[in-house]
Amino acid sequence: MIPLSQLPVEEARSVRIILSDIDDTITTEGVLTASAYTALERLQRAGFLVIPVTGRPAGWCDHIARMWPVDAVVGENGAFYFRYDRQRKKMEQHFWATPEELRQNRARLDAIEKEVLSSVPGSALASDQSYRLADLAIDFCEDVPPLPEAEVDRIVAIFERHGAQAKVSSIHVNGWFGDYNKLSMAKTLLGDVFGLDWEQARNSVVYAGDSPNDEPMFAAFPLSVGVANIHDFEHRLKHRPAYVAKGHSGDGFAELAELLLAARG
Ligand SMILES: [Mg+2]
Repeated sequence: MIPLSQLPVEEARSVRIILSDIDDTITTEGVLTASAYTALERLQRAGFLVIPVTGRPAGWCDHIARMWPVDAVVGENGAFYFRYDRQRKKMEQHFWATPEELRQNRARLDAIEKEVLSSVPGSALASDQSYRLADLAIDFCEDVPPLPEAEVDRIVAIFERHGAQAKVSSIHVNGWFGDYNKLSMAKTLLGDVFGLDWEQARNSVVYAGDSPNDEPMFAAFPLSVGVANIHDFEHRLKHRPAYVAKGHSGDGFAELAELLLAARG
């Protein structure tokens, strides 16, 4: 990973689209700081497409799409995108699964939830689970004391034994049924809503993230950036971001924004 300060100006100038994880990438220790929020706002005002790509739930994403200075949001690790059309005052929602599939998957996730909570002491249902439509989030670090890595691996193994996908973020293990991830839904969004073909989009995106659930994005985009806390997860990553910021979490995101805005002049 190359220090972000060494990003060539021409490469920074080619960026038109900012895709970014939220937890511990835009937020800092669970808080959306003024500097990170201002970075989002300045980027959007400067004409960049700004799109958070998060593991957070549908309930939160409705709020984010409506109220944050963003162009759309991908949530629950790619289960859907939401985009609020301000002119038409209409929320566009696109889900990977049909409503019937979502219902069936929920019953299977309920069984996984029971097994995880009874066999991994110290794990808990994520406090934002009630606002989720497609996935199951197990807390190992947000509102519970951090679990050892071996226990996190056991949670992942339970999901996988049930045939679900599981991804580790900085705070939760998220699991779901369905062949999607942050990348596949970001692709759908950029094509459907913004009319971009994939090659064109790939080369005008910068992706920012901090943890293993960002790996498909790090692998897909030539220009990707880890905020400094990515170092905590480096040993778990097969695909690392091309660049790494000096700042942690929201400070790292603000550092990236500053660089992009300066390059544009
Ligand atoms: Mg994160």
